[in-house]
Order: sequence, then structure tokens, then C-alpha cells
Amino acid sequence: MIKVLIAEDNAVNRELLRELLELRGYTVLEACDGQEALRIIDQTQPALLLLDIGMPVMDGFAVIRRIRENPRLAKLPVVAVTAYAMRGDEERILNSGFDGYLSKPVNPSSLAAELDRVLTKGIQPAKPDQAHEGQPAKKAGAVGATGSGS
Ligand code: MN
Repeated sequence: MIKVLIAEDNAVNRELLRELLELRGYTVLEACDGQEALRIIDQTQPALLLLDIGMPVMDGFAVIRRIRENPRLAKLPVVAVTAYAMRGDEERILNSGFDGYLSKPVNPSSLAAELDRVLTKGIQPAKPDQAHEGQPAKKAGAVGATGSGS
């Protein structure tokens, strides 16, 4: 059984993610804030963390920093789940140690693709375009992170 931890303060979003994950056969753990997420990671060693950015007590950026600073957790796949859909935020997320991100509301097929991608060895870089559906991405000049390969 592959354990996936959802760290998300919104109960409706947690439930949606839980249902999608359970449909795909994952064992789901839940945390309501960043501090609880770190504790559950410590106790249960999930295979993957879906991490909300905006959370009370400790937000997603603080959590990913703690995870990447910890040699034991440095390789834990972490996918941001965020309502921040603008280009600058994508850049910030991908430069903060996340392995990828999904924007809310989470699209089931995007979730499936992202899980498959990060749970297989050799994580490929996230494509900047797969995250925002519905919300117009602001083009704040060329960000240069597109392109193939790396
Ligand atoms: Mn939130």
C-alpha cells in the first residue's frame, strides 16, 4: 500500500483529494496544518506529500523548507497543491524544493499524472503549463523556464 499524506487546512479540499487518491488505491493520511504534517511524516513515512501552500500554523513554504533541510526527508516527493496560479508563483514553488504542483480545483487526470510522475524514479521537471486550468495566468514577461529537456 502506497501511503500519501494530504496536508490541507480546507476540509472539503481534503475530502476531494482523499476520494481521488483512494479511487486509485492509495492509502491516505491527512494533516490540517504544516506542523501536523511534519509530525505525521515523522511517524508514518508516507511515499508522497500533497502540500497545500496556504495553511495556518505553518504554511507550505515553511514545510517544504523543513523537509529539504532534513537529510532523512530530502528525497520525499512533495507536490504543491495551490490556488496560486500565476506565473511568478509557479516559479517560486518550483524553486522552493517542490517536485511539482497542482492548482485548485484539482483536476483528477492531472492528479493521476502527477502522482505517476513523481512516484516513479527519476522525477522529471514539471511542465509550467499543466497547472492552471480555468484561471488566466498572468504573463509577467518571459520567465524563461519553458523549453524542453531540463
Ligand atoms: Mn489552504
